[in-house]
Order: sequence, then structure tokens, then C-alpha cells
Amino acid sequence: MRKAAIIGAGIGGIATAVRLAVKGYEVTVLEANDTFGGKMHEFWLGDYRFDAGPSLFTLPHLVDELFTLAGRNPKDYFTYTRLDPITHYFWPDGSHLKAYADAEKFAAEAEQQLGVPKQQVQEALAKSSRLYNGTADTFLQKSLHRLDTYLSKDVLKAIGCLSDLGLTTTMHQENARQFADPRFVQLLDRFATYNGSDPYQAPGTLNIIPHLEHNIGAFYPKGGIYAIAASLVKLAEELGVTFKYNEPVERILTSGGKVTGVETGKGKYTADVVVSNMDVVPTYRRLLPGQPAPEKTLEQPRSSSALIFYWGIKREFPQLHVHNIFFSQNYKAEFDHIFKYKTVSPDPTVYVNITSKAAPEDAPAGRENWFVMVNVPHNQGQDWQQLTAETRKALVQKLSQMLATDLEQEIEQEQVLDPLLIESRTSSFGGALYGSSSNNRMAAFLRHPNFSSKLKGLYFCGGSVHPGGGIPLCLLSAKIVGELAPAVVPASNQVTH
Ligand code: FAD
Repeated sequence: MRKAAIIGAGIGGIATAVRLAVKGYEVTVLEANDTFGGKMHEFWLGDYRFDAGPSLFTLPHLVDELFTLAGRNPKDYFTYTRLDPITHYFWPDGSHLKAYADAEKFAAEAEQQLGVPKQQVQEALAKSSRLYNGTADTFLQKSLHRLDTYLSKDVLKAIGCLSDLGLTTTMHQENARQFADPRFVQLLDRFATYNGSDPYQAPGTLNIIPHLEHNIGAFYPKGGIYAIAASLVKLAEELGVTFKYNEPVERILTSGGKVTGVETGKGKYTADVVVSNMDVVPTYRRLLPGQPAPEKTLEQPRSSSALIFYWGIKREFPQLHVHNIFFSQNYKAEFDHIFKYKTVSPDPTVYVNITSKAAPEDAPAGRENWFVMVNVPHNQGQDWQQLTAETRKALVQKLSQMLATDLEQEIEQEQVLDPLLIESRTSSFGGALYGSSSNNRMAAFLRHPNFSSKLKGLYFCGGSVHPGGGIPLCLLSAKIVGELAPAVVPASNQVTH
């Protein structure tokens, strides 16, 4: 039986394990931490449950697909509900908008609350849908680094969209051209942060992102986002995958231009196929020290990181929902702080995720679990202790003002996550959330491929490689690796000499 060794049990590694096990591989996943999930893990602060990392879940069919592939009924393992409204938006001028799941209702709300013509909103969402459907098969579902991708008929669909894709304009320019209201432009620009980018630099192509949330939907899994990883690990184990925890891989073993296995502190594991779910930068720097590294790829600018305050809040806020955004006054200045000055804006946009709104068991009765996040640069040696203290003060003040309360008095539990901790817990280079940023129009092509062209049998999955960061794209990276890995020839069909 062909053997596969997977480095890391992040969502990309777990999904790849399922796909390779279904393909007939004997799969071992080596994980540095004492549990699975990587950025997608959960923890408790007293009686408050928190998803530590991702909070927004789109394209759930990509999870269902793994259960179906393995001949299981997804509903026996993993269920979710569609959120409505998706997000509550608050602006410093006191305006407020609920982004309803129904596109028409959302457009009507934008007209009523912000005076944005309903038809313009509908047209923008329709365009986002058209561009996503025209390009996703080529740019997200397949390797961009293989000739056969460009010979498929899907390329014609993508070419048909090229003139509308906004390759030569920025996301912000596209949005500001379509909408006169700066608040609605800000709402649309925010989608750049879904892959850690800057809307004032990232190409207009990123305007395909709203389609996922506004036309397909945002979902909440039963058991929280962590349930995605937990249910897939259950499936993987049923398929015979072995997970080894507290076992960081120290070397990828190679011989004669191909991989032969991996080495940990506990020994060597032989393998025909090695898949790294570790960030691609430390994969080369630490696990392949003698091998030539793709320097241009590894030097691509990093995506943003995050400062997160997990708060147990001892009262309820009926005006809030699961996803809430409190915008900054000056969005351009905020992104300049992150990407130009490499620091945190004194007036950041604040994202508050409250899962107890969808799952009351996540907090004690009458209380709420707040995940409060601001976008920050990846770690480049900043003084995070000082930035954390300053940011905490700024956001307590901002939320207190915008919610007309004394928030400090309501916080009864607290924990903080910063870029240094993200890096030390997951090996994400600089604590970047999504690998490299998409701040230039060639970014998609400059991400590391899902395979090595130098070492046969070496593959890559997860947020730092193609097609990118975020749960759906990590799942797609696993799909691409699953398709690229050689088929396993049953023993009975093997030719012996
Ligand atoms: P990771 O989660 O990066 O895990 C990699 C795993 O590899 C880790 O478990 C690590 O311990 C292990 N590892 C590393 N090196 C080794 C080694 N040498 N040996 C063995 N094991 C090793 N995405 C969304 O879709 N929606 C969101 O709302 C969202 N919000 C986010 C908020 C935060 C705060 C963060 C941190 C991320 C967020 N993301 C979001 C991004 C999303 O979490 C990631 O893109 C995704 O979870 C990354 O998965 P991955 O497969 O790349 O693996």
C-alpha cells in the first residue's frame, strides 16, 4: 500500500488526509500540537466557549463533499444553519445596517438605511456572482501551475470574464466607481480582509468575494466552527488515518530527487507522498534546509494578522447578532497603518463575533461570548505588548461609545491572541492569517503551487499555498492535492518482475 505522510493537522491537512485515504493511501498525519485544527481550535474561559480562529463559514458544500466522497451521509457527522441576518454593520455617524441573507432584502435595507439605490446593490451582487461562476473553476478549483488547467474548456469561461474582472483597477476603485455612498463602499471594501489584503491595493478581482456571503450564504455549524475540524477528523479516523500529536516534523527526507518520508524527534516515517500543511516558508527554511527554495514565492508580502480579545461579557446586547462590524472613520488611513506603517490604527474597524447568539450554550444564561478582532500587520518585530494595550484601550472606548455602555464593567473573562502567538502555535510565518496577501494582481499566480517541481512526491496544502487562505480555499487546496497525488495501484494489479 502506498504511504502518505501529512505534516500538520490544520483544516487543509485533515481534508487532504480524508482525500488520500479515500484514494487508497495509508495516511499518517504528524501534528506538532497536542490536538488537531491548527488555527481552527476551540477553548473555554470559565463557562464561555470560543472558536479561537475562523468565525465566518462559507461554501459548506466543500465540507459535505468530503463525507459524500467517503460514502457517508454528511448529515450524520456535520450540520449547519444559514445565518440571517449575516452581519450587523455600524458606522461612526450612528448609521446601522443589517445585511440580510436574502439579496433583495439586503438591497432594500441598504436603500432604506444608507440611501443606496436598491438596484445598484442588486447589480453589484449579480456581477459578483457572474464573475465568481466564470472564474472559480479555473482559478480556485485547479492548480494554476499545470498546463492542463489552461487547456480545459473552463478557461474559455474565465476569458469571457476578463474585461469585467477589474485586473487593472483596485477593489476600492471599482467599488467607489459603482457607489456614491462612502459607507457602502467601505462595506464592500472590507471583503479584501477576507484574505488579509488591502482594498486600496488589491485588484478589483477580489470583488467576487461578496458573492460567497451574499448570494450563497454564511453558515453556522452545530458545535461551532471547530466542529468542521472535529467531524472531519472523526471521518478520517474511520477511514484508517493515523493522527500523531505532539510530534513536530523536523525534516522531509529525500533521495534522488524524490521524497522518501519525514523525520520527527521520535523516528522516521517512510512515505511515497509527503504533504506539507505547514506554512510554506518554514517548510522550506526548516524542513528542507539543503534544497533550493523558490525565493521569489517565499518573499511575497504577507497577509495581515489579527489581534483578538476573547471576552466573557456579563450581560446581553440585543442590538447585536453573530457577526458585527464597527467601522473606522477613515478606512484608507486604517489600511495604511497596517500595510504601509506596519502598525495598528488608533481607530481600527472592530469585528465582534458572538457565537452564543446562535448557540446559547456557548455562554452562561444572560451573558455573551465576544470574540473581538482588529486587523493588524503580520509580525515584523513590533512591540506587541504595547500595541495590544493601546488597541484594547481604543476599542473599549469605541465600543462603549457606539453601544452607549461602559464596556469595561461588563468584561468578566479575558484572553488575548496576537501575531506572535499565532506564529508560535501554528508556524504561520509572521503570524499572517492567510499566507501571502493578494495586494497585487499577480498574487494568485505567485502563491506556491500545490506540488513541488523539484522533489517528486512532495505536495502542499493549506492557507499559505494555492488557492489561498480561509476555510473554503484550504479545502480546495486539499482537493487539488488529492487529484494530483498519483493513483494507488491495487496490489493485485501490480506487475512484478
Ligand atoms: P493551520 O490552521 O495553519 O494549521 C497548520 C497545522 O500544522 C498546525 O496545527 C500546526 O501545529 C501544524 N504544524 C506546523 N508545523 C508543523 C511541523 N513541523 N510538524 C507537524 N505539525 C506542524 N478563515 C475563514 O474562512 N473565515 C474566517 O472567519 C477566518 N478568520 C480567521 C481568524 C483568525 C484569528 C485566524 C488565525 C484565521 C482566520 N481564518 C479565517 C483563516 C483560517 O483559519 C485559515 O486559513 C485556516 O484555518 C488555515 O488552515 P491550514 O490548513 O492552513 O492550517
